[in-house]
Amino acid sequence: MIGLWHQYGHGVGMDQGEFAFIERMARLLPAAPAGQTWIGDDAAVLEGGVLFATDVVVEGVHFDFAWTTAEDAGWKALAVNVSDLAAMGGSPWAAVVCLVVPPDRPGLADGVGAGLAEAADALGCPLVGGDTSNGPVCTIAVAVLGRSATTGPVLRSGARPGDAIFVTGPLGAAAAALRRMRQGATPGHLALQRLRRPAPRVVEGQAAAEAGAGAMIDVSDGLAADLGHICDRSRVGVALVAASIPHDEGVDLGDALHGGDDYELCFCAPDPGRVRAAFAARGLAQPFRIGTITAEPARLLVADDGSTCVLAPSGWQHGVSGPA
Ligand code: ADP
Ligand code: MG
Repeated sequence: MIGLWHQYGHGVGMDQGEFAFIERMARLLPAAPAGQTWIGDDAAVLEGGVLFATDVVVEGVHFDFAWTTAEDAGWKALAVNVSDLAAMGGSPWAAVVCLVVPPDRPGLADGVGAGLAEAADALGCPLVGGDTSNGPVCTIAVAVLGRSATTGPVLRSGARPGDAIFVTGPLGAAAAALRRMRQGATPGHLALQRLRRPAPRVVEGQAAAEAGAGAMIDVSDGLAADLGHICDRSRVGVALVAASIPHDEGVDLGDALHGGDDYELCFCAPDPGRVRAAFAARGLAQPFRIGTITAEPARLLVADDGSTCVLAPSGWQHGVSGPA
């Protein structure tokens, strides 16, 4: 998830950034038992295909009450968690929330609670409990359980050379909206909605799983960074076609490649025909084919004139990301 980088220090508390810390954490912990996946995917896969994930949103880091309401913050906290279940091809089961609110902020807890309840209902993920405390800034930490598809969870590690790469919708609008607000301008309504009330692509994730997707991730930190996680875990490369990467009018390719917080899904599948059929059978908009997985580990972007350049891995990463 992207952060409001102008409001907090770089690298505070996370030597070499968020991803290096997560790798160190993974080394501290025992390996997952056979058939399970622990740290390293969008959700952990436990016995019986149970999915388990958590994501936190923090005032001044992930949202700012200057441009978001308490209800929107509550919605987003649950939606980004459900998005991690969608990225496994799974379905939501239940959620719990830890809500921290500063004292002397009348109505804040109730507003966040209303947004959480609205999201729980709309996204089919009942909120079954939680914990509440006072603290220095509003912090909403949600944990979710989910169930895997009957075909099994779609991990980040199953991309194979020759797979077609798809995204489920246009990218970059949330990052563009955030930048416009930082510049004092007012973003368009749709872009603002994407930033404030992301819509997790649960049914699309299930369609991708059914269509034989071998790897999938939700685009929370930016396409280049998140597709990079698939490359790392699958030990493959990518060739992305710049002209095929979908973005709304007024959103440039840079935001589409590197802007986070879109919560579209990116997946890799060997049979594009099966993908089209699975999406059509569910009445879904067709996903956009944006490139191909390669055996060569390079991450390349193919420009309109056929020239290629190396796709910069940058995306949002807590602890290292700075002003654009
Ligand atoms: P996502 O963007 O899909 O939510 P993250 O980048 O937040 O994923 O996390 C990547 C992986 O690292 C996930 O498997 C997550 O469970 C794990 N992870 C992140 N932070 C921690 C932590 N503090 N301790 C243990 N595992 C963590
Ligand atoms: Mg994710």
